[in-house]
Amino acid sequence: HPRVFSGVQPTGNLHLGNYLGAIKNFVALQESHECIYCVVDMHAITVWQEPNELARQIREVTAAFVAAGIDPEKHVVFNQSQVSAHAELAWIFNCVARIGWMNRMTQFKDKAGKDRENASLGLLAYPSLMAADILAYKATHVPVGEDQKQHLELTRDIAQKFNNDFAESIAAKGFGEAYFPLTEPLISGPATRIMSLRDGTKKMSKSDPSDNSRINLTDDADTIAQKIRRAKTDPEPLSTELEGLKARPEADNLVGIYAALAGLSKEAVIAEWGGQQFSAFKPALAELAVDRLAPIAGEMRRLMADPGHIDALLGAGAARAAAIATPVLDGVKDVVGFVRSR
Ligand code: ATP
Ligand code: MG
Repeated sequence: HPRVFSGVQPTGNLHLGNYLGAIKNFVALQESHECIYCVVDMHAITVWQEPNELARQIREVTAAFVAAGIDPEKHVVFNQSQVSAHAELAWIFNCVARIGWMNRMTQFKDKAGKDRENASLGLLAYPSLMAADILAYKATHVPVGEDQKQHLELTRDIAQKFNNDFAESIAAKGFGEAYFPLTEPLISGPATRIMSLRDGTKKMSKSDPSDNSRINLTDDADTIAQKIRRAKTDPEPLSTELEGLKARPEADNLVGIYAALAGLSKEAVIAEWGGQQFSAFKPALAELAVDRLAPIAGEMRRLMADPGHIDALLGAGAARAAAIATPVLDGVKDVVGFVRSR
C-alpha cells in the first residue's frame, strides 16, 4: 500500500523553497497516505555543522514540520540518527551502489566544488544513505523538490540492483520476486524549483551565503517585503503569456512563487497580472507571502520555546519509525546472508 517518506536537512535557515517544494506537499499528502517525515541529521553532517547549532536546527526543522501542519500523532516525525536502521542499510547499499554512480551526481559536484578530493566521503555517499532512508520503510512515494530528482533515480537503481543481485536469495527466503519497491518521486505543482532572489539561474538554498537570496520561514513581515522588493528582475512588465516567461528566469520565479502561495496555476497568475509592472506585483506578492508564512513562523516560535516537548516528540516518532524499519532491515540481513541470533 502507498507509503510516503521524505526528509529535510537541519542545515540552516528553512526557506520558501523548502516550504513550497517539499513541506507544503508533505502536509497535503497526510490526507491520502501513511507518511513518514524525517529530520535527516546524518545527511547534514556530510558538510561541517557546529554541534550546538546542529541540535538547534534539528529542533527547528521539527517545529517547522508541526507548525506547517504535519500531525506527529497520525503520522511519523523523527530524526534520522535515532533510528540505526538508516546507517546499517546505508552501509549495505554502499556495497551495492557503484562509485561511478555517485561521481555523476550534480549535488555532489555542486557541494564539493573544485576541491573534490577534500570533500567528506559522506558527501559522496549521500545518495546511498538517502536510498536507505526511503527503502528502510519500503516507501512507494517521495515528495521532493526538482533538485532531488537525480537522487531519486539513483534510489531506484540501488533498489533494482539489490533486487537483481540477490534475486535467488530473495525468492528462497520467501520474499517473492523483489524485496524493494521502485519508489516514485512526487514532484508537482508550480514550485518544484524555487530560484534564488538574487540569481534566477541558481536554486534558493539554505547554504547560499547571501541571506537576501532567500525568504526564510522565520523572516518577519518587513524583511520579507524588503527581500521581495529588492529581488532581481528585468525592467519589462510581466508577460501576458506563459511562453513569454521562458527567457526571463527571475520573472518566472516570482510568478511561480505567487502561484504556489495562492494555490493557483502560473497561467491563472499571468491572466491576472500579465502586462503589469513589478512595482505593482511585488507588493502583492510580499503581502501574500507574509499572509502564508507569518502563522507558521509564529507557531514555530511557540514550539521552540519548549525544546523538551520537541525532543519527546522526536523520541516517540523514532520508536514508531524503528518498529517499521527494523523488520525491513532484518529481512535484508537474511537476504544478504548475515547471521542473526534470534
Ligand atoms: P542545502 O543547501 O543544505 O542542501 P536545501 O535548501 O537544499 O539545503 P534540503 O534539506 O537539502 O534543503 O532539501 C529539503 C527539501 O526541500 C527537498 O525535498 C528539496 O528538494 C527541497 N528544496 C530545496 N531547495 C528547493 C528549492 N529551491 N525549490 C524547491 N524545493 C526545494
Ligand atoms: Mg539540498
